Amino acid sequence: MTFTAPRVADESDFLQGETGPWELIIGLEVHAQVASKAKLFSGAPTEFGAEPNTQVSLVDAGLPGMLPVVNEFCVEQAVRTGLGLNAQINKFSRFDRKNYFYVDLPQGYQISQFEFPVVGEGEIEITPEGGEPVTVGIERLHLEQDAGKSVHDLSPDETYVDLNRSGVALMEIVSKPDMRSAAEASAYVDALRQIVRALGTCDGDMEKGNLRADVNVSVRRPGGELGTRCEIKNVNSLRFIRQAIGYEARRHIEILEAGGTIDQETRLFDSVKGETRTMRSKEDAHDYRYFPDPDLLPLQLDDAFIERIKADLPELPAARQARFVSEYGLPAYDAGVLTADKAKGDYYEAVAKGRDAKIAANWMMGDLFGALNAAELELDDSPVSADQLGGLLDRISDKTISGKIAKQVFAKMFEGGGTADEIIEREGLKQVTDMGAIEKLVDEALAANPAQVEKAKANPKLLGFFVGQVMKASGGKANPQAVNKLLREKLGG
Ligand code: MN
Repeated sequence: MTFTAPRVADESDFLQGETGPWELIIGLEVHAQVASKAKLFSGAPTEFGAEPNTQVSLVDAGLPGMLPVVNEFCVEQAVRTGLGLNAQINKFSRFDRKNYFYVDLPQGYQISQFEFPVVGEGEIEITPEGGEPVTVGIERLHLEQDAGKSVHDLSPDETYVDLNRSGVALMEIVSKPDMRSAAEASAYVDALRQIVRALGTCDGDMEKGNLRADVNVSVRRPGGELGTRCEIKNVNSLRFIRQAIGYEARRHIEILEAGGTIDQETRLFDSVKGETRTMRSKEDAHDYRYFPDPDLLPLQLDDAFIERIKADLPELPAARQARFVSEYGLPAYDAGVLTADKAKGDYYEAVAKGRDAKIAANWMMGDLFGALNAAELELDDSPVSADQLGGLLDRISDKTISGKIAKQVFAKMFEGGGTADEIIEREGLKQVTDMGAIEKLVDEALAANPAQVEKAKANPKLLGFFVGQVMKASGGKANPQAVNKLLREKLGG
């Protein structure tokens, strides 16, 4: 039975089959590169983008007689990440050899952890877009080496091997099969990314492949027996993860509904075609002939080591979100958006400090994020700094400008027009609070619209017409409260 209807995957969950509903079961293995200057078992550097094969020690090249030495810093990062995942830290863990042949794996095996990983079970809470919070179980986190890279596109008839990545430390974080939709899987990887970034244990850069996911997908009848799963390897963006799951789930459902069976296999996601395809039939753990690496002693961590790391943990995104609710009085939604990554939270706290916290949140989530989105910029590259946005909010709160004028000033700030004060000064945007000047505008508006005056006298709700006229005549600069007050007096409302 083959699946022969390749379609571009969309991002919606596909759970309604021809013959009824299907439940989607997703588990993820995320490989997160440890933010370490040196490799897991050698002192070779790990810098991205170096000339091929310039960052390779004799250990990384798998030469005979070379002995690996554990990089303690990497172990510390794994423990730190484990603590951030509310997970069990295993004081005893062991490195094992996972045997397989790859041209870019010179040792002929990968040093990984099999039976005794450094981190055991944990859990994190995620909130998929537009959904309710879900708790996702962590099965384990283990340390292992990355392989090198085969380069197939430099020559039509030769493959080149770059060993710069060989031996780089990875944390493989294995979830339980707790996710039920593409949105949940995507939210999980996003949450994991935020956690490791906040901890500083991995830079989370998915484009560089520093955080990538192997996605296990199967379908079953709701509440029924688990189906056969397929593993989609090395998916390196949240969007691709959603697309790959959408495609794969549909493929399973179509095959099963046509009476076929799913072969357990490892698949690739082709992001150009938006489809998955067979890479190899899936092997089981015993195929790798794991055995304890005889060159490495087991890791034995003492309480002092773990406690020292624990004492040094930063505030994590979930805790920060809760604090934004309690300390700044923000709605949970706002707090979630503003703590989605460290940069947003830091920016917000700089703006909100000593100012109205809700107004600061509204400006960030509305005007600032809107402008950044339209310009396709990240917050780190924002032309308006937190201090500058704060300066604008100060001019609203001291009534130098109205909220409406502030939006124009912000647009000019974003275009590089200077600080709020400079723009207000240069463009003469200062709010008119001089009652004499406002009264003149009010009188003019009343004189120009005698019929409306009669109507407004009979129905005070029509006062808004004159507020609009006066604001327009003042170029938006008249103080709206003063305009309202004067109109009420004159129209006897
Ligand atoms: Mn792995």
